[in-house]
Amino acid sequence: MKWRGRKQSSHMEDRRGAGGGIGGGMFRGPSGGGGPSFRIPTGGTRGGAIGGGGLGLIVIVVVVGLMLGVNPMDLLSGGVTPSSAPQTQSAPGNNASEDELYQFMAVVAQDTEDLWTEVFKQNNMTYTPPTIVVYSGQTSAGCGVAQASMGPFYCPADQNVYLDLSFYDQLRQQFGAPGDFAQAYVLAHEIGHHVQQLTGVLPEFNQRRQRMSEEEANAYSVRVELQADCYAGIWANYAGQQNLLDSGDVEEALNAAEQIGDDTLQKRMQGYAVPKTFNHGTSEQRQRWFGIGQRTGDVGQCDTFSASQL
Ligand SMILES: [Zn+2]
Repeated sequence: MKWRGRKQSSHMEDRRGAGGGIGGGMFRGPSGGGGPSFRIPTGGTRGGAIGGGGLGLIVIVVVVGLMLGVNPMDLLSGGVTPSSAPQTQSAPGNNASEDELYQFMAVVAQDTEDLWTEVFKQNNMTYTPPTIVVYSGQTSAGCGVAQASMGPFYCPADQNVYLDLSFYDQLRQQFGAPGDFAQAYVLAHEIGHHVQQLTGVLPEFNQRRQRMSEEEANAYSVRVELQADCYAGIWANYAGQQNLLDSGDVEEALNAAEQIGDDTLQKRMQGYAVPKTFNHGTSEQRQRWFGIGQRTGDVGQCDTFSASQL
């Protein structure tokens, strides 16, 4: 993707090397947050307690985790442990420094602001961008404590996206999803959750799922996540219109969507997939909904909630 020298978002917060934010009165604890978070599944070593008021989510995850015989927090963060993940070497030509990555994220964030400001305006709404908190190790978030092993996530309580750049090493090495546009897709997906927060989709989900069975909540979650993928596709379409794409960019995002599909993740983790536990969508679904947004550029096509077939 063409990004060097382009405008960077002012809604970035650099907490790298800030020493974590645990202790010193900054620890908010599991009860200090304001809701669950929405993340790209990752290969976390061990997910931290996300805390927050998302008791329903925690309970669900614990139950599912016990069913699968894995650390519930592993499942929350995607559930692939380094010991079980294939060790691959870094892809050549993809060893940008973290400072470069930070700047790249800031450019992508700016692009999403331009896009969603316009889309919201067309719908007589006002877009307020999220803050992208880039941290290393761990930091406090409105949803509890953010840890690198959790992977990127959106926290509705403070309307921030939390991103530890080391995730992109994992994405490339453990998940086999290299490329700058794969990285951009991840951020665009999380920002898609912020769009859902502003449109009311996320608040409604968080309210309604408290009264749902685990299986129902998972099915609902899949629709939320696939819509965020579709919104990431909307951003990819926008980037294409601006002539920012290099050849292979869209394929990088599609490959990432495939690698982090629930079925692919679970098969990698435990050798088989349990569909009723899926909460992000299958590889095929994630690719397809990203593709719908990417091809059409029409947010009206991203209605995963009335789609009879996901
Ligand atoms: Zn998500």
